[in-house]
Amino acid sequence: MSPHVLILGGTTEARRLAADLAARPGVRVTTSLAGRVSRPGPLDGEVRIGGFGGADGLADWLRGHEVDAVVDATHPFAESITVNAARAATATGIPAVVLRRPGWRPGPGDHWHDAGSLTAAAEALPGLGRRVFLTTGRLGLAAFAHLTDLHFVVRSVEPPEATLPPHTEVILARGPFTLAEETELLRAHRIDVLVTKDSGGEATAAKLTAARHLRLPVVVVRRPPLPEGVTAVPDVTAALGRLGFDGP
Ligand code: NAP
Repeated sequence: MSPHVLILGGTTEARRLAADLAARPGVRVTTSLAGRVSRPGPLDGEVRIGGFGGADGLADWLRGHEVDAVVDATHPFAESITVNAARAATATGIPAVVLRRPGWRPGPGDHWHDAGSLTAAAEALPGLGRRVFLTTGRLGLAAFAHLTDLHFVVRSVEPPEATLPPHTEVILARGPFTLAEETELLRAHRIDVLVTKDSGGEATAAKLTAARHLRLPVVVVRRPPLPEGVTAVPDVTAALGRLGFDGP
């Protein structure tokens, strides 16, 4: 019988894992997307789009589609689906692997300020600069709406729907971004502080290097914790190992 793997996706790692599994004879792979992005890129294997209806809905889907293993390869800040996946795995007894790329760490020359939430990041901003490059995604921007004295450059993949601060320019763009592009953006908009989530990964890391070169402070919103008892693997190779697919 061919094993059926469900990948909870929305990340580069989920895409790479789907490509690897889909290329293995006899393996059935389905990637699930929340449907937040209007034009997701191509994915190998089967794709389903939309919420499951909480942990119970996900458990029903796993049983109904004869899933043998789940990989939660969602974004480190996608907290609810990760909690739901852990609960659904416990309820069904279906093995689950959490794939989380490692977070970013500051190096010499970095001026990072940790924030436990977007609200905490907003509180820190007035003391750090007046022209802000905000790269925390389009959700949660309302946390900055009261900062009427600051100028924001907001970058997101899809247009923001939230109430924005009054002085805001929106740039619609999808990574990866190069160091040259990020440096040029920071210079052109005369940015003096950057705000980012600790997303980790290569695709959006260049802004951190650019900020270091320009000696700009960076407010880093820390990740929500994983559900109790859940441990993550850091990359696709480790996830394949956990699934029992060692080697190419
Ligand atoms: P979230 O807060 O954890 O999820 C909210 C609800 O959306 C979940 O309860 C679930 O609905 C549905 N959902 C989330 N991911 C899903 C998936 N892969 N397949 C099917 N349903 C899913 O997540 P979020 O922060 O809104 O992120 C949504 C998606 O965007 C995630 O898949 C994530 O990988 C991707 N993403 C998020 C970020 C970020 O910064 N948060 C950045 C890049 C990509 P039901 O309860 O109805 O099942």
